[in-house]
Amino acid sequence: MHTVAKIISDNDGNKCNQLITHLVIDRGGSNVLACSGECFELGEGLAVGESWEVNKDGINCKECLKIITFYKKLKISKTIKKYNDY
Ligand SMILES: [Zn+2]
Repeated sequence: MHTVAKIISDNDGNKCNQLITHLVIDRGGSNVLACSGECFELGEGLAVGESWEVNKDGINCKECLKIITFYKKLKISKTIKKYNDY
């Protein structure tokens, strides 16, 4: 399950293409767009058209898709010692 969003206007008040849907991620407790890192919490940042949760797909922003592809290519050993294990 992940959250996607359509943005009405950016931080400068410029209108955004509402046909573009972005991946929303939690960064330090704030909802941000994966592509730009811009925050859209209440009272700050971007004007959100709509956000919703999906089980699969739902993202068509080229930059968000590039980031997802990048993370999918990372190879991490299952035997690696994680910070919390120390
Ligand atoms: Zn995006």
